Amino acid sequence: MLAYRSTNIIFGGLLLGLIALNFYHPINGILYAILLVIYIVVIGSGSSFISFNFFLEAYNKGKTQSKEIAITFDDGPLPEITPKVLDVLKKFDAKATFFLIGNRIPGNESIVHRILDEGHLIGNHTLNHDKRFGFFSKEKITEEILDANAIIEERTQKKLRFFRPPFGTTNPKVKAATEELGCDVIGWNIRSFDTLIKNPETVLKRIKKQVAPGAIILLHDIYPSTAPLVEKLLEHLQQIDYKVVPLDKLIERNAYE
Ligand SMILES: [Zn+2]
Repeated sequence: MLAYRSTNIIFGGLLLGLIALNFYHPINGILYAILLVIYIVVIGSGSSFISFNFFLEAYNKGKTQSKEIAITFDDGPLPEITPKVLDVLKKFDAKATFFLIGNRIPGNESIVHRILDEGHLIGNHTLNHDKRFGFFSKEKITEEILDANAIIEERTQKKLRFFRPPFGTTNPKVKAATEELGCDVIGWNIRSFDTLIKNPETVLKRIKKQVAPGAIILLHDIYPSTAPLVEKLLEHLQQIDYKVVPLDKLIERNAYE
């Protein structure tokens, strides 16, 4: 919360400064409006970019200096896509992490079991991946995490510790809920933008440019282009001598209780 707290102190100070100055010399009201707009932009950016660690300390990369990297997939499991991604990972003997949406699990249990059987990790990506997640109360966030955990635990006997907020949204309520539940919040430092960029070649280029020791790559196993893209990415990583390692190893944290 350091960055958030400092921001509030700085903007609070500036606001008080303007008010004090106003006693000596009338201040144009537009200055207050400018200050407010800048504050909103700073808070909005802090909330949208998990790697800024603005509201909470997320795990956005590993500390290693070796050529090790982690690949994460959000928003699955999807029966048409996730098995194809698993096929590719198997071909390269690469271990990834899947942040699952709770309500996508019933009916897709075999995929979740395959993920685990093939040595990948799973994490929590809420029950519903609601677009309004950023506006949820602490209680509602807690419920979204616990309900997804319950579905997963019932089917896999795994108690998840890794949590990735939908859209990477963070705020003081996400911080409070995750601290109380004792989960590790997982971010990324390579955002592929595969949800926005339609051309997989452009997505791949974006990722390749940012590859570095300890990086965590964010992808989504929800598109027909995902598996072919992962195949090309793994070929590239192999060529430049990078090893894809499980997230728990990369960030030195336990994925399960
Ligand atoms: Zn997501």
